[in-house]
Amino acid sequence: MVVYNFSAGPAMMPSEVVEQIKAELTSYKASQMSVMEISHRSDLYAQMFQEAKADLRELLAVPKTHRILFLQGGASMQFTTVPLNLAYKTKRIAFVDTGHWSQTAIADAKLLPDKEVDVIASGHENGYTALPTKIKAQKDYDYVHLTINNTIEGTMFQKLPELAGQTLVGDISSNILGYQHNVDKYGLLYASAQKNIGPAGLTLVIVKEDLLDQEQDLPSMLDYVKLIKEDSNLNTPPVFPIYAAGLVFKWLKKQGGVAQMQRQNEEKSNLLYEQLDNSKLFKATAAKADRSLTNIPFTTGDKALDERFVTEATQAGLCNLKGHALVGGMRASMYNAFPYAGAKALVEFMQKFEQQVHPSFAVSAL
Ligand SMILES: *Cc1c(COP(=O)(O)O)cnc(C)c1O
Repeated sequence: MVVYNFSAGPAMMPSEVVEQIKAELTSYKASQMSVMEISHRSDLYAQMFQEAKADLRELLAVPKTHRILFLQGGASMQFTTVPLNLAYKTKRIAFVDTGHWSQTAIADAKLLPDKEVDVIASGHENGYTALPTKIKAQKDYDYVHLTINNTIEGTMFQKLPELAGQTLVGDISSNILGYQHNVDKYGLLYASAQKNIGPAGLTLVIVKEDLLDQEQDLPSMLDYVKLIKEDSNLNTPPVFPIYAAGLVFKWLKKQGGVAQMQRQNEEKSNLLYEQLDNSKLFKATAAKADRSLTNIPFTTGDKALDERFVTEATQAGLCNLKGHALVGGMRASMYNAFPYAGAKALVEFMQKFEQQVHPSFAVSAL
């Protein structure tokens, strides 16, 4: 049976990359050493890291003004590291509350004793199924934080809010490399790897260098200036996840880069949204204008029926469709490595299920 993995993260990786890892796991570049066994001070590592960094810069069209850091601690660590590094002038941070991950970021920033944290807009009233529309900053902030793709709620900023004069910080954990972000528009972007890049353990930060205070003296592992100075090699970096991410970057370049990924992600998500919009049984929960390209929550509106759907889908090889505990229902996550055939298989399974549950509900087959 073919298995399609709809996991939100850690998510599936390109099978070619997993095969390559398997093939060269015992001897990296004919060294007779596994990539897991090489020193982070070796030439082998240095070359691998520099290539990964250059490929990422090319893929994301990162301008010269911005530096790239390969860190650990997950996107969640950045909920603390970003305010420590960027909120030093006004010491004021604005957040747009778009759901679980932005709330977690807000809560962590509030724990820092000398920062003022304002929530300038919230999707609370609509249960986070839509993004807030009136986003205005009344004061000068060190930055405005946006969760660009809301992995759990399935919403995504298709257009950035107009906030003249403010620095934007974006959490792009779940659509980095799957959507063409304009890096130039941001002071800082961050993402953990396990959604759309590779194994967990690697976190990417892209930061505009002139936003950093060279005088600020933070604990080493939290200090972008020190981490940049050591080129992300201040302590032992996650060598294996960086290696795997590097292979994914090469795979992405071969596929045609981020523009091609975005096109493919649009094809996959459009197929599923179309089915959801035409269905009498299922419905997408996110507002049409704010729909995510990569994470698609949906429901029948009936808890027992949702559970039955997830169970039967799993038996048919459509795995990890259970929605996040916070929102229930189902969620299909389809990142770069997820094939179109998987989206098609899900849509066909939904049509069959709908017909079984209620024959008069059936929509015409594709
Ligand atoms: C998964 C996710 C996080 C948390 O990532 P960790 O690596 O587990 O810390 C934060 N923000 C968004 C948008 C996410 O999707």
